[in-house]
Amino acid sequence: MAVSKTRPAALICEAVAAGVTLFGENRVQEFEAKRTELPAGIEVHLIGHLQSNKAAKAAAIFSGIDTVDSLRLLDRLEEAARREQKQLPVLLEIKLSEEEAKTGFAPESAELQVVLERAVDLQNVAVRGLMTVAPFDGNPETARLCFRELRKMRRAFTHRHPRVNFDELSMGMSGDFEIAIEEGSTLVRIGTALFGARERRG
Ligand SMILES: *Cc1c(COP(=O)(O)O)cnc(C)c1O
Repeated sequence: MAVSKTRPAALICEAVAAGVTLFGENRVQEFEAKRTELPAGIEVHLIGHLQSNKAAKAAAIFSGIDTVDSLRLLDRLEEAARREQKQLPVLLEIKLSEEEAKTGFAPESAELQVVLERAVDLQNVAVRGLMTVAPFDGNPETARLCFRELRKMRRAFTHRHPRVNFDELSMGMSGDFEIAIEEGSTLVRIGTALFGARERRG
């Protein structure tokens, strides 16, 4: 996945011309402003935190939501996708580091268990796997442990919830994607390594 947040539509068009078909954006409003300038036939997923009050808009404009982090959000997305009459693939974001700023379900939370139980009954939202962001402490082995943990979690969840699809493991960014792939990532999210340093905000 090419992470195109903060990049102008013209640059995204260049990436499309070079063969990229899957993009990640982290803000609903930013993507809403750019999307009319983008060619058809690409997929754009939301990879930033989504507030439930923006779920309807996000369900309408994104082809997938990779950062579902609450039961309330899952329910809102299901309702919105039904209204849009579309199938919306989602990933469940898991918080595997103690960093305050990080979002995602705590691995053993009761809320996550409810989400997993509900997943098979959803009509328009399709759970496709798990996503995490590794901590940035400059030590690649910290990231490795985090990725390994996510893969282990997938194994446990697959065992406990055999009817839920956990095919995707979205993990790894420019600084740690090689390690993520070694640890079983199926989807790396690459921004700066493709497009160069971002000017501001992450
Ligand atoms: C910005 C972002 C990325 C890409 O980060 P790079 O270090 O530029 O590759 C990946 N995942 C998420 C969730 C992001 O917000």
